[in-house]
Amino acid sequence: MTSSSSSVVSARNLCLTYQTNDGPVHALSNVDLDVGKGDFVSFIGPSGCGKTTFLRAIADLEKKTSGDLTVNGMSPEDAREKRSYGYVFQAPALYPWRTIEKNIALPLEIMGHSKDEQKRRVAQTLELVNLNGFEHKYPWQLSGGMQQRASIARALAFDADLLLMDEPFGALDEIVRDYLNEQLLKLWARTNKTICFVTHSIPEAVYLSTKIVVMSPRPGRVTDIIDSTLPAERPLGIRETPEFLEIAHRVREGLRAGHSYEE
Ligand code: ADP
Ligand code: MG
Repeated sequence: MTSSSSSVVSARNLCLTYQTNDGPVHALSNVDLDVGKGDFVSFIGPSGCGKTTFLRAIADLEKKTSGDLTVNGMSPEDAREKRSYGYVFQAPALYPWRTIEKNIALPLEIMGHSKDEQKRRVAQTLELVNLNGFEHKYPWQLSGGMQQRASIARALAFDADLLLMDEPFGALDEIVRDYLNEQLLKLWARTNKTICFVTHSIPEAVYLSTKIVVMSPRPGRVTDIIDSTLPAERPLGIRETPEFLEIAHRVREGLRAGHSYEE
């Protein structure tokens, strides 16, 4: 296990409780986790187990209730000010009146980068997500998968080492998702990013990750952390190998153990 000082994300006894009219909701309860540099960590679990809350806490969009959370050794607030992460939301959230190029450049524009620098970075990130040639299109002229790639490009544009991705491919069909999973692994290998990735899909989590965090709701908590034994090089066919199926089985068992059938 990586020591917390060299971790990109480190949580110790992390608790986050929302106060609501119906009383407190324990979205995260005593979460202990280290995400090492260059790790690809997936968070998997049923709705309401705190996956989004955890990403939002890392991004300083929610405040912890108690415990410790550091991002690159800093408080989430300091890390946000240093623009330590890119965030990819569940829906692409592109502005329909801006071209793909202008959508990707928006955060760079806000950060005050020169026009030349914006152009350079847009071209570079479009290349990374295989969207060269589409810079002058509008989002609605692109397929769902291409729009999601554009929003990944936007998150990559300011070159943060940490990428937070909340079910980025959840709304896409399986063929497109397979393709994007492969692309994302290649991108991860090429860029050396650290990725925290939320998903509902067991095959997706096992295919992509170096580490799989299984979560369970009420209270939101981590029930298993699985270090993947799969090699770095992963053709899609790896999903039929015994090693892959064994990890998938352990994830499924973890999900089942934490599941309540009350609802
Ligand atoms: P997941 O992403 O795993 O589906 P969330 O992190 O969105 O789970 O939510 C965890 C729990 O916290 C759920 O019970 C959810 O209803 C609750 N929750 C999430 N956001 C808020 C909020 N802003 N206010 C109150 N409760 C919230
Ligand atoms: Mg969520």
